[in-house]
Amino acid sequence: MFDFFDLENLLPKIGKKIKVEEAQKNFVPSEIFLPVLNKFGTPKLEVCENETVLKGQTLISYKSGFRVCAGISGKISLAKNKINQFGERYEAIKITNDFQNTEINFEPLKDFSLENICERLFLCGNVDFENDCVPLAERLKNTKIKTLVVNATATEPYLKVKEILLKNYLNEIFCASLKLYELFEVEKLIFVLGTEVRKFKKELLKLCKAEKNKKIKVKIFRSAYYHSDKDFVVKSVCSKKEINFARSVDVVTIWSFYEAIFKGKPFVERFVTVSGTGINLPQVVKIPLGSTVKEITDFCGGIKTEAIKLVLGGPMTGISQYSTEISIFAENSAILLLTEKETLWRKAEPCIWCALCVEVCPENLLPSKLSALIEANEFDLAKDYDLMKCTECGNCAYICPSKIDLVHYLHFGKVTANKN
Ligand code: SF4
Ligand code: SF4
Repeated sequence: MFDFFDLENLLPKIGKKIKVEEAQKNFVPSEIFLPVLNKFGTPKLEVCENETVLKGQTLISYKSGFRVCAGISGKISLAKNKINQFGERYEAIKITNDFQNTEINFEPLKDFSLENICERLFLCGNVDFENDCVPLAERLKNTKIKTLVVNATATEPYLKVKEILLKNYLNEIFCASLKLYELFEVEKLIFVLGTEVRKFKKELLKLCKAEKNKKIKVKIFRSAYYHSDKDFVVKSVCSKKEINFARSVDVVTIWSFYEAIFKGKPFVERFVTVSGTGINLPQVVKIPLGSTVKEITDFCGGIKTEAIKLVLGGPMTGISQYSTEISIFAENSAILLLTEKETLWRKAEPCIWCALCVEVCPENLLPSKLSALIEANEFDLAKDYDLMKCTECGNCAYICPSKIDLVHYLHFGKVTANKN
């Protein structure tokens, strides 16, 4: 068991770099749990209890055409009262691995019309990682893109997935970006690399050279602090004229787009950073969605006894968990195990009204004012101050010299204001 929702101690000390390598072996879970969610419409179960499914087989379908597919082959059962990262209960489809690794894929797509691509993305269950993991096809349908921004910037410390994707799939990411370029008759394509992945610029420029008739740029994004807000990146690399029809797609989404369109692979796996000084072997692991933190951390050499905090997500926007029984889904990019040394420094002090949080907020909000209103239970007033516009990017909490966990206040405020 770990500390849960300890408001004062979430952000770890950033400075000491932890070496995180790519996993050298395949991670194979003994079971996975996939939630039956209503957020995409009314779910229809496509499998029955005790049925044996193949990896990639449809488990749940929605009216829109969106599917949830199996990440491993094995036997189906239903699991009630599972708890998600927000402490909410949900019903899940459990697959017990038969270790046969039998799988089904689609044929690679031949006709690349928008209609065909969207149909494929629905069937494969692809989501948009930058936009609350909504079905990617829904986001691509009826959209106009003049400037396409491929976002490869690190949103938070510790996160390494984008780096590993660029290292292993640069050609695929480039090829899929060109497909989107052609599909939307884009006028300009911009690859944005964070400084931590600037080493890929040369290779990317080589690929761009072969596409002389296309307008493609590679830009390095320098920021004094981390950020989780895609609009901030777009605003930083596009001119005022370009912003209205500029769309950002992050490299994780582009990679899974490539897998679905060119290889016919349903979206059933993702890369996850497992890091922090509380884990024995920090590494980036490819995991079937629905795998438990327990099995993933065991694969990474186990949790050290000094670990006092488990966080799902990055240190700026992640959420503390109390149990390793939790499952990892599309939106979870990292598992952090933090020791006392990494977390205790973050004792919150009173606000000194320095306004640094205001300066860095991409939504032009007043985080200090909002957190004070939320603390005083003034949720309606906080709404008047545009609380609901907060994207929970974490910039304000990261920059705050008083170490106030503003994001947790803001998240709590938004949830409570929504309930009222
Ligand atoms: S950055 Fe922190 S200390 Fe400064 S005004 Fe904002 S909340 Fe207050
Ligand atoms: S108030 Fe919200 S949007 Fe603004 S910096 Fe803080 S977390 Fe980001």
